[in-house]
Amino acid sequence: MSDENVILITGAGRGIGAATALLAAERGYRVCVNYRSDEASAASVVERITASGGTALAVRADVTRTAEVERLFDTVDRELGTLTSLVNNAGTLEKQCRLEDLDEERLARIWTANITGPFLCAGAAVRRMSTRHGGKGGAIVNVSSAASRIGSPNEYVDYAASKGALDTMTTGLSLEVAAEGIRVNAVRPGLIHTEIHALGGEPRRVDRVGPQLPMRRGGQPEEVAETILYLLSPVASYVTGAFIDVAGGR
Ligand code: NAP
Repeated sequence: MSDENVILITGAGRGIGAATALLAAERGYRVCVNYRSDEASAASVVERITASGGTALAVRADVTRTAEVERLFDTVDRELGTLTSLVNNAGTLEKQCRLEDLDEERLARIWTANITGPFLCAGAAVRRMSTRHGGKGGAIVNVSSAASRIGSPNEYVDYAASKGALDTMTTGLSLEVAAEGIRVNAVRPGLIHTEIHALGGEPRRVDRVGPQLPMRRGGQPEEVAETILYLLSPVASYVTGAFIDVAGGR
């Protein structure tokens, strides 16, 4: 792989995003570590990359805001060079509950975070990568969830549905840009050891449910990162519109 590959990973200060940033740097990518609020975590990911001789930059931006997305992508253009890879990783969920307890405000927050954000970032990436816009092509990976298949009953059907929308975007966008040098794929992680479960009100959710899974354990962020990096790499040059479950058989 050439050292001219430039990757932007949204929500990369911790969890799956941070693991993807570290692995991408190891593979020779110049890395933009996007974060929304936790500057210290993003800075520590950048520090680990630069300490190993890599190139990385932390950029604060809420990816649900058009102006912030534009500033984020402009910063990558200016500081790291031509964007070749986008990982739409930033996402969120809220307290576990049943569907009848979801209100309008929460639904709007979930749709905005998990659908609008990836749409805005994918649009900004296509404007830079597409041969239709004079770009040199590239690859996008959307971080969906096994929830889009399972539906997350009694936990967060809203979150699951937002990932269903992301799956549909993966299919539609992959076809829209297939002849313009851009591949668009998705990973669907299952239960992964990260801090997202605390947002659902159950920080130890993976420990509780993991032993009931086919592989009898939850996954590690690094196991998801490996699949993301595969989908972005030239090894996957004929793979587009595909979904890879990283869910231990779930
Ligand atoms: P995490 O530890 O909660 O990390 C998510 C990161 O995204 C946080 O650093 C968060 O930053 C950032 N973020 C959220 N909204 C953002 C926004 N609007 N703009 C910029 N950054 C934003 O979660 P994770 O488990 O690594 O999840 C990463 C992705 O994997 C998500 O899309 C999630 O849905 C998906 N996933 C996770 C699992 C799992 O079991 N962990 C399973 C399936 C899918 P702030 O703290 O500043 O909000």
